[in-house]
Amino acid sequence: MSKRDYYEILGVTRNADETEIKKAYRKMALKYHPDKNPGDKDAEEHFKEAAEAYEVLSNPEKKRQYDRFGHEGVRGSTGGGSGGFGMSMEDIFSQFGDIFGDAFGNFGGFGFGTGTRERQKRTTRGTNLRVKVSLTLEDIAHGVEKKIKVNKYVSCDQCRGTGAEGGSSYQTCSACRGTGHVTRVTSTFLGQMQTTSTCPNCDGEGQIITNRCMKCAGHGIVNGEEIITIKIPPGVSEGMQLSLNGKGNAAARGGIPGDLIVLIEEEKHPYLKREENDLIYEHYISLPEAALGTSIDVPTIDGKARIKIPPGTQPGKVLRLKDKGIPVLNGYGQRGDELVNIQVWVPKTLTREERQMMEKLMSSDNFKPKPTGHDKNFFDRWKDMFNT
Ligand SMILES: [Zn+2]
Ligand SMILES: [Zn+2]
Repeated sequence: MSKRDYYEILGVTRNADETEIKKAYRKMALKYHPDKNPGDKDAEEHFKEAAEAYEVLSNPEKKRQYDRFGHEGVRGSTGGGSGGFGMSMEDIFSQFGDIFGDAFGNFGGFGFGTGTRERQKRTTRGTNLRVKVSLTLEDIAHGVEKKIKVNKYVSCDQCRGTGAEGGSSYQTCSACRGTGHVTRVTSTFLGQMQTTSTCPNCDGEGQIITNRCMKCAGHGIVNGEEIITIKIPPGVSEGMQLSLNGKGNAAARGGIPGDLIVLIEEEKHPYLKREENDLIYEHYISLPEAALGTSIDVPTIDGKARIKIPPGTQPGKVLRLKDKGIPVLNGYGQRGDELVNIQVWVPKTLTREERQMMEKLMSSDNFKPKPTGHDKNFFDRWKDMFNT
């Protein structure tokens, strides 16, 4: 197959100047663009052919060689090596992408060649920050707003986060023409090997800062701190994580900031123990109180409550204070209960007089244990509590 003349391919005369050649190529490229001709092999060949012609004719050195010696003169110097249309679609887009401009919007999304490679410019993302917030049971019951000071990377105010002095001293990277990636084609005995990689010149950003910001050394971020208000809803619990979008470290040079992850820690309450959304309080009464009945004050999460202990209360009796527990997270006002677990204090030592009283009571028929089927022990009772 004989190769067509490059001027003929682009439809220009031998006297065409740089602008005309570029214009002609753009026209061809748009005409045969794979977006307009999906699945059309013929169009693809034309598209590649035009790219090859343009590669030679847009380069003064190659153009001179071609003008003097024809195809032989530029043999091996086109991306394609010996003969054929060596340029892959990816090469064409990475090398001449700027020619197409916005005609096809996001041409970066093409999946030619070795598959779906990330072809967009690299966008930096700030790292996530983690902080622990320690909460009392009262905080958890009522919800709380915590102001915390977070040390983190913040956007540099000097360059408005761009890293460039005055916020404007940068230019499009010449190595990748602003695409952020470069494609290399090497000829091996197996054929052509093509690799696309992040542009080392601009580190994938597509832009080069010509004058670095003094304050942040071109990073666009500096060490700083921020007072962040964290609204914690009622009902959270130990180990839960709240994520605050965009409140983490600022990203280098205008990227997206990371998140602030708030890890909830629960402080021990001096009297109340949390069991899911219920609160448990253990209260000791005396032997006579258990027998005679009494009234006691118990602490609650909102203050205190007075409860009646009926005569003949057994140790392990659980009294339930309805809705005195922890609100259910996002539970629309639903709350747990406070469970008051009554224990009876048995004295460890007795005076002589007490001992005599006790011995007298021991012989009384009323003081002989009479467990009935209804008087389950504490643990059985406990299980029932959680099953209801
Ligand atoms: Zn700066
Ligand atoms: Zn670059």
